[in-house]
Amino acid sequence: MEPNVILAVHGGAGNGLIRADTSPELEQAYRDGLASALRAGEQILRSGGTSVTAVEVAVCALEDDELFNAGKGSVFIEDGGHQLDASIMRGTDLAAGAVAGLRNVRNPISAARLVMESTQWVLLAGEGAEDLAIRNGLATVTQDYFWTQRRWDQLMDAKNPDTPQQAEYSTVGAVAVDRNRDLAAATSTGGMNNKVLGRVGDSPIIGAGTYARNDTLAVSATGLGEVFIRGAAASTISNLIEFGGRDLVTAVHEVVMERLPALGGTGGVVALNRDGVFTAPHSTPGLLHGYLTAEGTIVTKVFTDE
Ligand code: ASP
Repeated sequence: MEPNVILAVHGGAGNGLIRADTSPELEQAYRDGLASALRAGEQILRSGGTSVTAVEVAVCALEDDELFNAGKGSVFIEDGGHQLDASIMRGTDLAAGAVAGLRNVRNPISAARLVMESTQWVLLAGEGAEDLAIRNGLATVTQDYFWTQRRWDQLMDAKNPDTPQQAEYSTVGAVAVDRNRDLAAATSTGGMNNKVLGRVGDSPIIGAGTYARNDTLAVSATGLGEVFIRGAAASTISNLIEFGGRDLVTAVHEVVMERLPALGGTGGVVALNRDGVFTAPHSTPGLLHGYLTAEGTIVTKVFTDE
């Protein structure tokens, strides 16, 4: 029997842990991070809250956890600062909100939700997005809040020509279905390590990194953003289901495992439909993710061989 999933989260593709190199403490820290985000979202769903609130709350928990590349613990841009991106989408009516290039908002996903619910726009960048967040009382922080030694070391490694370069994607995201069987998806990221000032990836682009449509699926992506944008990854999956007659698992597999690698990019997604069918394929060695079933079981996957 396939599990009946109601909420799933991811903590990035490409950095699944290698069993032999991982201490039990680090393994536990990742599992706890994913599980606490799921528990936070579960509380919302169990008390009759919407899938939109559940994905926002789950993503906020991951943004606050410095293990993940979103909110605190975000990667650095090339000048040593941070610029954060996020988006959220509601499956009932295709309402969506996104922010790009934030520097001082603690939880970018909440700013994305504000754009969706309190403005006529879909994507706000930079100063305007910060102003909206501040006017609406969202918590703000100085850039040093996002600083972590691990990300700083990764920036230094990226700038050192003698260090072997490896792609690491640790963006976060969530998908959920609520009691009314309405879907929502959310994604939040610090972007790519050592990115150029102003670079915006797929995470805040509706149809690339995030998509939710009740009659197809909710999906949140992680991977090489430029390819997810060029391949219109998230909306292509939805279109393959809507117009191409594919089922969820086939459509997701086709985009993640065939179309995006053919464009030169790897990554993964978490995807869920309103019947609780869930899939999380990835063309990277791993995809940190976890899910919660309708019965209350939490499953986390952190190792590349899990
Ligand atoms: N997709 C993100 C970006 O390109 C990176 C990631 O998944 O970690 O900004």
